[in-house]
Amino acid sequence: MSLSYRFKQHTLIISVALFLSVFGNISFFSNVLKTYPFSSTNNFFIASLFILLTSLIVLLFSLVSSRYTTKPVLIIILIASAFASYFMNSYGIVLDSDMLTNAVQTNLSESLDLLNTSLILYLLFLGLLPSYLVYKAKLSIGSLKQEVFNKLKLIVSSVVIITLTIFVFSKHYASFFREHKNLRLYTNPVFYVYSVGKNISGSIKTKESPFQHVGHDAEKSANDIDRELVIMVVGETVRADRFSLNGYHKKTNPLLEKENLISFKDMSSCGTSTAISVPCIFSKFTKDEYTKEKAHSHENVLDILSHLGVNVLWRDNNSDSKGVALRVPYEDFRTNKLNTICDTECRDEGMLVGLQEYINKQKGDILIVLHQMGNHGPAYYKRYPDKFKKFTPTCDSKNLEKCTQLQINNSYDNAIVYTDYFLAQTIKLLKNNSSKFETALLYVSDHGESLGENGIYLHGLPSIIAPKEQTHVASIFWAGKHMEVDKLKLKAKENQPVSHDNIFHILLGIFEVKTEVYDRDMDIIDYLDNG
Ligand SMILES: [Zn+2]
Repeated sequence: MSLSYRFKQHTLIISVALFLSVFGNISFFSNVLKTYPFSSTNNFFIASLFILLTSLIVLLFSLVSSRYTTKPVLIIILIASAFASYFMNSYGIVLDSDMLTNAVQTNLSESLDLLNTSLILYLLFLGLLPSYLVYKAKLSIGSLKQEVFNKLKLIVSSVVIITLTIFVFSKHYASFFREHKNLRLYTNPVFYVYSVGKNISGSIKTKESPFQHVGHDAEKSANDIDRELVIMVVGETVRADRFSLNGYHKKTNPLLEKENLISFKDMSSCGTSTAISVPCIFSKFTKDEYTKEKAHSHENVLDILSHLGVNVLWRDNNSDSKGVALRVPYEDFRTNKLNTICDTECRDEGMLVGLQEYINKQKGDILIVLHQMGNHGPAYYKRYPDKFKKFTPTCDSKNLEKCTQLQINNSYDNAIVYTDYFLAQTIKLLKNNSSKFETALLYVSDHGESLGENGIYLHGLPSIIAPKEQTHVASIFWAGKHMEVDKLKLKAKENQPVSHDNIFHILLGIFEVKTEVYDRDMDIIDYLDNG
């Protein structure tokens, strides 16, 4: 088939912009309609939004257009926008700068979990097919002078249209930008292009900011003579309301329910993704202060403890430590090189193998961090060995849309039953060491998960629009017989609101560290003797 047609550069740009406004912005316009339902006044405003969005896309394209760049830029944006459309329409996910960081840090097997026929269809019809047409189009450009003139004309006219549109509907836009600015998160490709820009400028800032020590005044309390052995488990994607410890009607914590432990029923996460929450948990910065740049340019609580001679070990069965364990011993348990318990995938319990030998070899205090695979979605059914298939029927597919709500819930809950087992095994290991050490387990999930509430799935929504399902996370604390914790006082705090912000201080408190960055009020654990 020979396909050949001539296009003026601006005609091609406007055609692609129109295509994206119509086919790539279904999520945006359906969210707009929820806020501005069809009515005689709203209809004109909605039409103006369409004009505004198209002009904005034209403006973006015209800024980077030239005889050499126009076609490659259009093709890249078409393909990226097909992905964006798929994730917005199917899972209610928006591509903000954090979500893009996640996407980049996600490994191949996780990406393959997301691959399915409807994604391929999106890619084909919204990405590859229009890209092919762009590729085949012949650009008539003319002289350099004409090209520059045409480019300027396109830039100026889109700016004029944008200004006029906003001016004519100024009343509507005032409320749109003030009260409904979250709608902008759904504009495709405008918002993710903005997010990419934000990430690039962020990483330049990180490179420029010097690395800062934290807690340089830190010292161990003089009357701390006992050795501490603490295991901190960083959970994955576990919602608080799916723990039977917190009142869930299905028995998802059959083993933990038998332990004398504290379940923090109102724990909220710093972020809604692994890439934000994990560094935030270990940093001195609160949720409000936290930025990726700050986390990467400052030491965290593991560094402070390690400087004081605590033996810190990070074992990872997730993706990696997100920069937290860069300066402490780190072991990758995602392959069968170190992990001896692998079937369809390497299991979290593999991280416990050989830990006793490690503990026996150390002198002084020990902090072991175990980063779980936990409930990582959407392939929940892969997250537990067969014998943990307690609730049936399950959703044995990564394509959640092919499953019923009951099946999705069952698979997700089975993965929690497996985490219950993993945590119980961890407590067992600590109990075996409780006569020699002051032992404790601190478990906290990094974020929650949407399981279809209001048509939203997975996680990673920006904090401002994130539903509670994504931020209300499971967390427990267990202390061994020699750890002088006031369990009664602590039990009374089970319902108190706490957050990832507290973890930094809890860890310093357990190891009896004195430093100006430690805030006793943020450390919610009550100790028996030192108050
Ligand atoms: Zn996560």
